[in-house]
Amino acid sequence: MQYQSTRGSAPALGFEDVTLAGLASDGGLYLPTQWPAFTADQIRAMAGLSYVETAVRVMTPFVAGSLSEDELRDLCAAAYSRFSHQAVTPLVQLDHQQWMLELFHGPTLAFKDVALQLLGHLFERFLSRRDDHLTIVGATSGDTGSAAIDAVAGRAKIDIFMLHPEGRVSDVQRRQMTTVRAPNIHNIAISGSFDDAQALVKAMFNDADFKSRFNLSAVNSINWARLMAQIVYYFYAAVRLGAPERAVAFSVPTGNFGDVFAGYVAARMGLPVAKLIVATNVNDILHRALGEGDYSQGQVVPTATPSMDIQVSSNFERLLFDAGGRDGAALADQMRGFESSRAMRLTNAQRDGAAGLLSSARIDADAMTMAMRWAYDAAGHVIDPHSAIGLAAARAADVGADVPVVTLATAHAAKFPDAVERATGLRPPLPARVGDLFAREEHYDRLPATFEAITTYVAERATPRHGAGPA
Ligand SMILES: *Cc1c(COP(=O)(O)O)cnc(C)c1O
Repeated sequence: MQYQSTRGSAPALGFEDVTLAGLASDGGLYLPTQWPAFTADQIRAMAGLSYVETAVRVMTPFVAGSLSEDELRDLCAAAYSRFSHQAVTPLVQLDHQQWMLELFHGPTLAFKDVALQLLGHLFERFLSRRDDHLTIVGATSGDTGSAAIDAVAGRAKIDIFMLHPEGRVSDVQRRQMTTVRAPNIHNIAISGSFDDAQALVKAMFNDADFKSRFNLSAVNSINWARLMAQIVYYFYAAVRLGAPERAVAFSVPTGNFGDVFAGYVAARMGLPVAKLIVATNVNDILHRALGEGDYSQGQVVPTATPSMDIQVSSNFERLLFDAGGRDGAALADQMRGFESSRAMRLTNAQRDGAAGLLSSARIDADAMTMAMRWAYDAAGHVIDPHSAIGLAAARAADVGADVPVVTLATAHAAKFPDAVERATGLRPPLPARVGDLFAREEHYDRLPATFEAITTYVAERATPRHGAGPA
């Protein structure tokens, strides 16, 4: 399988190179040059398969040329052995039409584990082959940092430096990062905001010498391998609800558009998806873009669903490229325009290409609270605020009465106990497997938010890439 950049001028690469590269060299994002397709019979044959076997069927075409089916199976088995539920992503029924797909049974209680646990194994495998070393640097406001740290802890070929804004992530989120003990984990509390931390990471990537000396890499959701791992659970859920005989709708609490784009890919591969509902909070750039064609950046409003508090959605570019006819040069122009004016209009081709499959909803704090109460009163389920945004959109969606609607539950309620308690009066306890989080010792260093301080810190601790000389 070959991959091409959304901006048309980076070289086509195979899966291994795309996984290690993250972003394409022309600033675009990688996509397969064409979508693999499954026939109805092939989808029917997924009935009854375990999660890992489903993952092997769905992902084999994407890794062709880089991993054999058996290698892929070993990596998936290892990645998903750390989930606390046998089904990995179990479906639960809320009423005759509404379902939830629980994606939070991984080690850090957020859906990001589904992709990052696999990515950790892919990195390790590919780096061993090349005898190379990777330095991951990232800034986190919470969930991505803990999921990434858990996924790479103890791996010999990877160092990870995770910056968080001091005092501005929740205790659970900070402890999920700082209590992981392994020599390759480096937690840094930056005296500044999340934006300051992110600006430092960007500056490191923009320093070409530094970037190449330490083989810097990112684990944000622009990495194709992360998206690929998320396609699997759309198949797993839909097959259990009657696909390919019956179409299923999905409602997806959305931030960077990675999770819902994986659903779009599943549909392109032949899965009968009746509707993909893009659920946003009041940070509604995607709702405006899909409804009115207006992709213009506003100010981020902090909400009870911090993982969806975004104004620019990095993976949306993949949809614009594919739905708009795959014209890399035109998209590169359009994105350059957006980057200078912070606003753009979708083309008619992009709007029409998305409209058949995607709809959107903007869910405010009241509707989110009502959805949390309804889930508890009607079905006895305590759900997290992000999942509640999805559920509110699912219940309001205009799909036929005979179409099952699956909301992706993206976080465990115990990650956001205050918001859950405000809505339902219940304070969800941390599951037993992370229960001693508050007894474990924390390890992190504090640094001022300066380029000098952070690069000195990284250079003292990271392993230069194979063949790179001393500074
Ligand atoms: C990351 C995240 C999201 C948003 O997912 P995207 O792929 O960025 O759209 C939603 N909910 C939770 C809990 C998350 O951690």
